Amino acid sequence: MPVTIVVVCSRCGGLLLAKAGQKTRTCPYCGSKVALDRAKKVASAENAYEASEILRKLKSDASARG
Ligand SMILES: [Zn+2]
Repeated sequence: MPVTIVVVCSRCGGLLLAKAGQKTRTCPYCGSKVALDRAKKVASAENAYEASEILRKLKSDASARG
């Protein structure tokens, strides 16, 4: 079961990491509280390292598309 999820901030669209089971997470970009059960989940990972790799990939994909 994945322990770390990647969600999109509903306010600024930034990507943030959260632990499975967490209910809210404060966005590091805009400071808003994100309700994780309502946020858009884009990926999940089995550990923090894998999650950060996914995050990096998502960010580079986004910048590659402009
Ligand atoms: Zn945000």
